[in-house]
Amino acid sequence: MTEQDQAPDGYLTSFIFPGLAVRGAIVQVAESWSKWSILRRYPGTVHDLLGQAMAAVPLMASTLKFEGVLSLQAQGDGALPFMVVQSSNDLEVRGTARWKGEIGGAASPALFGKGQLGIIIEPYGKGQRYEALVPLEGETIAECLAGYFNQSEQLDTRLLLCSGESGIAGMFLQRMPAEDSLDSDAWPRLTALLETLTNEELLGLSPQDIIRRLFHEETLQVFAARAVSLRCRCSHGKTSELLLSMGEAEVRDILAEQGQVEMECGFCGHKYIYDPAEIDALFAAEQAEPPTETRH
Ligand SMILES: [Zn+2]
Repeated sequence: MTEQDQAPDGYLTSFIFPGLAVRGAIVQVAESWSKWSILRRYPGTVHDLLGQAMAAVPLMASTLKFEGVLSLQAQGDGALPFMVVQSSNDLEVRGTARWKGEIGGAASPALFGKGQLGIIIEPYGKGQRYEALVPLEGETIAECLAGYFNQSEQLDTRLLLCSGESGIAGMFLQRMPAEDSLDSDAWPRLTALLETLTNEELLGLSPQDIIRRLFHEETLQVFAARAVSLRCRCSHGKTSELLLSMGEAEVRDILAEQGQVEMECGFCGHKYIYDPAEIDALFAAEQAEPPTETRH
């Protein structure tokens, strides 16, 4: 998952309804989803919930007006105590979850138990970090996120998210901020149409066919599809920065105990292994040249 030359097998198609002050997008990711989810052997329920959340983040990140990362981070006291999913503005998506013991039933936010969902937007460079915390309510992650947009952002939003064995998909409609609709019935009409779409259709039909199936009586402007990839942003360089930030004493302790230093990426599970010579070189280089400010 660290190869940079992988062809994307996912796409995001945005569209607007001119004059109706409504925008939307469809995201679909095929085989790379099964490759991603197999890395951690998620139980079925966790697999479904993680897939739905990983379909949500590129939809949300597609509206960012700057370069950065959008994350959803759920934490609670339930059988699924932790999940984090991220999409960069250029739609590189990754996610991971931790669960406890046997876990089954519906892929509902109730699995997190008592807890909260954080929506975090971190611009690269000097921009202001944004964080909102919302209750983990609703039958589905889609409902929970719609609640966030409707209440915290005052943006009427409806989402569909689904996760299958061989792919994930999502679609959203959102009233555009600061624009008036020429048609006061547009929002209830368009969202009612959206609700008629089945998971099978969202996963299996092309975006063009989905748009035709739902909105054949409406006027839409459809934008060129953007590539979406499930890809981890971890690297040897970033792992080395992390080791440097831990400090030489702590890293030397691990080395003395284990004979090498093994750092596993929390997202993709890739293991970065440092032998004693590499640890020597890492800290020798740091002493020769103090590290500049880094970004994570
Ligand atoms: Zn990784």
